[in-house]
Amino acid sequence: MMSERELLQSIPTQLWIGGPVDATGGGTFEVHNPATGEVLTRVADAMPEDAVRALDAAVAVQEQWAATSSRERGEILRAVFEAITARAEEFALLMTLEMGKALPESRNEVRYGAEFFRWFSEEAVRVHGRYLHAPSGTGRIMVHKQPVGPCLAITPWNFPLAMGTRKIGPALAAGCTMIVKPASATPLTMLLLAKLCSAAGLPDGVLSVITSSHSGAVTQPLLDDPRLRKLTFTGSTEVGKTLVQKAAGGLLRTSMELGGNAPFVVFDDADIDAAVQGAMLAKLRNGGEACTAANRFHVQNGVLEEFTTKLVEAMSSTVALGPGTDPATTLGPLISEDQLDIVSELVEDAVSAGARLRLGGKAPSGPGWFYPATILSDVPPHARILREEVFGPVAPIVGFETEEQGLAAANDTEFGLVSYVYTRDLDRALRIAEGLETGMVGVNRGVISDPAAPFGGVKASGFGREGGTEGIEEYLSTKYIALN
Ligand code: NAP
Repeated sequence: MMSERELLQSIPTQLWIGGPVDATGGGTFEVHNPATGEVLTRVADAMPEDAVRALDAAVAVQEQWAATSSRERGEILRAVFEAITARAEEFALLMTLEMGKALPESRNEVRYGAEFFRWFSEEAVRVHGRYLHAPSGTGRIMVHKQPVGPCLAITPWNFPLAMGTRKIGPALAAGCTMIVKPASATPLTMLLLAKLCSAAGLPDGVLSVITSSHSGAVTQPLLDDPRLRKLTFTGSTEVGKTLVQKAAGGLLRTSMELGGNAPFVVFDDADIDAAVQGAMLAKLRNGGEACTAANRFHVQNGVLEEFTTKLVEAMSSTVALGPGTDPATTLGPLISEDQLDIVSELVEDAVSAGARLRLGGKAPSGPGWFYPATILSDVPPHARILREEVFGPVAPIVGFETEEQGLAAANDTEFGLVSYVYTRDLDRALRIAEGLETGMVGVNRGVISDPAAPFGGVKASGFGREGGTEGIEEYLSTKYIALN
């Protein structure tokens, strides 16, 4: 196993455009370790010209890549899956260093992130069209799927590998080229991935990575360039809205995986121990820094105190806060000081509005951006924490009386990514799952992410799906050929 120093020295820190290249002007920016605040390394700071260079490279090989047989594309994706798996510990340590999450969380992400290459290596050969006789008898209808063309992917810091591979896997499988602009907080994982893709046989120019500290300026020329055919974004709703507006100028095709505010609904008839276990996963996966994280717990009054007490017990007895690289740690630091301030503020706002602090609630002194597992009960409906995405290990709990009230409270948000429901009553589970205004619902499960399932939201959580058989459709255009 490599040491941290050896690992960091092995990561490319230049831009990846057909291989490692310096940014125009030679600028760089710092990458920090959230557990210490220290600088890990510096990476190339792309200028707008560099983004255009990456698009030139993508356009140059687009036709050739699209013409490569789907079997061959699939074999390359499969080789990347094998390469990531073989270097899982390196990826895990790298993510823990740049993003902060505990090593077991990073290992989970490596498995999850790599799986998009395996899944889409299999989907590459299953892109089908259709052939039929027109019902009117006037000819034949042929429906043919073609790659959209060069794509831009903009990804967030919370899952530095998986949020990239969920886009790269299907794009490459469909025959598209892709430029990735990773989050400036966590650029290293994508740079390592680009190096592995190249070693696995991916032709130069098919995948580029442009790291930058000024995302808006660097992506603007791409959004303005008619050669770019698709923008796929994962990140906050606020930035997603801005990007949709910018993309509208060129009627660029877009997919938007945006913010969440997941309700976790527990009914009186639920298996409470299972609900507590599910709540631990739904709340603490990725330290609460997940768009799928349970943001608020709606618990029916008959089991409200039992659920709350058991969740306090579970969190206080199992969560170990510390640097992600420490083997004993289960909860690492938050990504940044800004994020720590946001989480602290939301908790303070809830407490001053009348919520009861049942666990945690106070950040330890530094270094690093640590926040403890926190539980709030009796949270009043107007508290900001129920409306805004917390993105930290904080569980606000509120009671409800009737099924209708529980469902209405769960749906009372602009977001619509995922929701969770715990009940032993199958009729109720289906009724609630159908009534919840979210793109995904976990029934008696605290984790729903699966590369074989269509991930995505409705309302302010965006549109488009990643994973499943739907995921590749985002990178395909439908052509109708009318035959005589
Ligand atoms: P963010 O601030 O929206 O940033 C996401 C990405 O967009 C980063 O690469 C960022 O670059 C870039 N960006 C920011 N402003 C931009 C602009 N004007 N033009 C072009 N790019 C721009 O989100 P985040 O804080 O990294 O991630 C957390 C958010 O992502 C949460 O809301 C979470 O719910 C959401 N998320 C959603 C999903 C999903 O599948 N629905 C999955 C994971 C996360 P910089 O890093 O340089 O700012």
